[in-house]
Amino acid sequence: MKKRIGFIGLGVMGKPMAMNLLKAGYPLTVWNRTRSKMEDLVKMGAAPGESPKDVAEKSDVVITMVTDSAAVEAVILGPSGVIEGVRPGMIVIDMSTISPSVTRRIAEKLKEKGVEMLDAPVSGGDIGAKQGTLSIMVGGSEEVFKECLPIFEVLGKRITYMGTNGMGQMTKLCNQVICALNIQAVCEGLILGAKAGLDLEKLLSVVTAGAAGSWMLSNLGPKIIKRDFEPGFKMVHQLKDLRLALAQASELNVPLPGTALVNQMFKAVEAAGLGEKGTQAAIVAVEKLAGFKVEKK
Ligand code: NAP
Repeated sequence: MKKRIGFIGLGVMGKPMAMNLLKAGYPLTVWNRTRSKMEDLVKMGAAPGESPKDVAEKSDVVITMVTDSAAVEAVILGPSGVIEGVRPGMIVIDMSTISPSVTRRIAEKLKEKGVEMLDAPVSGGDIGAKQGTLSIMVGGSEEVFKECLPIFEVLGKRITYMGTNGMGQMTKLCNQVICALNIQAVCEGLILGAKAGLDLEKLLSVVTAGAAGSWMLSNLGPKIIKRDFEPGFKMVHQLKDLRLALAQASELNVPLPGTALVNQMFKAVEAAGLGEKGTQAAIVAVEKLAGFKVEKK
């Protein structure tokens, strides 16, 4: 018998992930703060939940995929939250990217109710969410991880157990440091090429096939030269993740000079009113410095 799943948070990532679970035959109850975003899932056969509490009452496993630490606290611990509807033996999986220490605190609160929690943030973007090819990094009990593996296998391709509660989130913050520096590198390569008068499509094609190749270059490089800034992964979310990474680095006494610099560049993008755009909008801050625009001729 397949576990009954409750899915909370149907944004850019949550909606396609929930759809994949439904297509894989899992009985699904969904909830989203803005209720209109539940409609497509309900048309596909998901049950509409009244609140996170109601979702928990109707599920064996509850998955949350919301913005940040405060949002996860609100849907799990807040009024009519998941914690009010749980039973001992249930599992809560948070797949949002949030603070490792907040994750641990929520896991402790759930444990008092006999509920296990996994932190299972993801990488692979909206494309990975749609295709079910996410990379999933998991913290919590290894036994519970194994129990949930069939669910993770619907959503992702590389699924890795990283250790106790919080270690999934810690892994994701390392991932975000690498992603942020990588998108900045793509932008700097493109501005140099543009100013030098190179054919930007040819530039992307040839460097993608060499040692500079990366997910960012392949997926966001073409968007930058088309000036398609639709998210994807929103700049405000990347800034949230860099804030978390820099705080952890400070606690661990690890200098991250490149990350600190990129954080300021991305701040400039947000200040220019582009926080809700995708991270490829990082090009705008680089262009401001260069006094030149990257555009396909
Ligand atoms: P999104 O499109 O902005 O969706 C955010 C979701 O969180 C929406 O369903 C929103 O509800 C809900 N939410 C926010 N605050 C809430 C609150 N206080 N109470 C209840 N619900 C709340 O974000 P996303 O891109 O799907 O990202 C979700 C998470 O995945 C984030 O932690 C992000 O860092 C992470 N992530 C994103 C990507 C990506 O490429 N997009 C990749 C990997 C990881 P409303 O609809 O009512 O606003």
